[in-house]
Amino acid sequence: MKELFNRHIAHTSEHPIGLEIDYAEGPFICTTDGRQYIDFISGIAVSSLGHRHPEVIRAIEEQISRHLHVMVYGEFIQKSQSEFAGLLTSLLPENLDRIYFVNSGTEANEAALKLARKHTGRKAFIAFNNSYHGDTMGSLSVTGRDVYRDPYLPLLSDVHFFDFNDSSVLKDISNETAAVIMEPIQGEGGIIPANTDWLTSVRKKCSETGTLLIFDEIQSGFGRTGKLFGFEHFDVIPDILTMAKAMGGGLPIGGLASSSEIFEAFKHNPPLNHVTTFGGHPVSCASGHAALKVLTNSNLMSNAANIEQKIRASLNIDGVVEIRGKGAMLGLELEDKNLTEKMVIGAMNDGLILGWTLHSNTLVRLAPPLIMDEKTLDRAIEIVISNMK
Ligand code: PMP
Repeated sequence: MKELFNRHIAHTSEHPIGLEIDYAEGPFICTTDGRQYIDFISGIAVSSLGHRHPEVIRAIEEQISRHLHVMVYGEFIQKSQSEFAGLLTSLLPENLDRIYFVNSGTEANEAALKLARKHTGRKAFIAFNNSYHGDTMGSLSVTGRDVYRDPYLPLLSDVHFFDFNDSSVLKDISNETAAVIMEPIQGEGGIIPANTDWLTSVRKKCSETGTLLIFDEIQSGFGRTGKLFGFEHFDVIPDILTMAKAMGGGLPIGGLASSSEIFEAFKHNPPLNHVTTFGGHPVSCASGHAALKVLTNSNLMSNAANIEQKIRASLNIDGVVEIRGKGAMLGLELEDKNLTEKMVIGAMNDGLILGWTLHSNTLVRLAPPLIMDEKTLDRAIEIVISNMK
């Protein structure tokens, strides 16, 4: 397998981690050499219910016994899509009453940017330094890190970047701005939550100028922060909400939620404005629907708060400069790059998978599954502590 992986899979890093996966169950990933790892990154905030949750597997089996792909989203009536959209919108604020399903996070942002331009008839976007919105051209255009943008210039023009949580942005949101796009809790940028007052004033300025506010909750959504969506912590409601990652319970799917009125812009000129052959795949919708039912009918979201509390209490140790984030979306800022590298590699050798963010080499990202039990959490914390020495 290694030989095929090395010869025929295109790689995006010089030294891929190279764990050879055998199976994954609950909070564990098992490799073909017989080792068991605690998954503390959840495939980057995807497997929030752990791996192969039985309700999710049951829903997938039920769906595959009836049909797989039949027709692009929005034309045929498919039970799993309609039920998933129905449940999801019932849990969202009133203005977010429709969902357009796509395949991934970056595609959700692409569609959101297009929808904002089409609805407002304006061109300009406002985005934030250190943000991350995905790796396709449109999403990369609103991603706030030159190191990722520069090799691909020219990107979309008329995108204006400001510091996150800095009120200098307010004077630039005008009746020429199509949308302001942001992660209410920046993920790859270092797990940085928005400041509530600032977010409230951005919302106010957007409403005054007819600018759409897009929240990218691709990483912070579906219970990760202890609430269904991160914006609930701030009491600020977006015009468009983008989502993916944990949305599919482990299968690929993305989506954007907005109002019926705003989605009108997708109905004509051109027809089928954002075609996405596999968007809202019925098996992913069945899986996502089941995952959402589990999430809302259990105490998993409150477990995110327990996880946070325990980590904050136990990892207030030498070498950890700051613990940031909310719920089970946390970042440990360590003293320096060498310690970070030593800790993450040491933990992996001891059976704990941690994450780095794209933008910082001193930040260790923690995104454990919300089903994490006390004993496994204790073991994970022990491994972190022993590798900080
Ligand atoms: N937005 C945010 C906030 C993300 O964290 C990510 C993925 N890390 C994306 C967008 C892109 O999602 P995808 O990889 O599914 O395209």
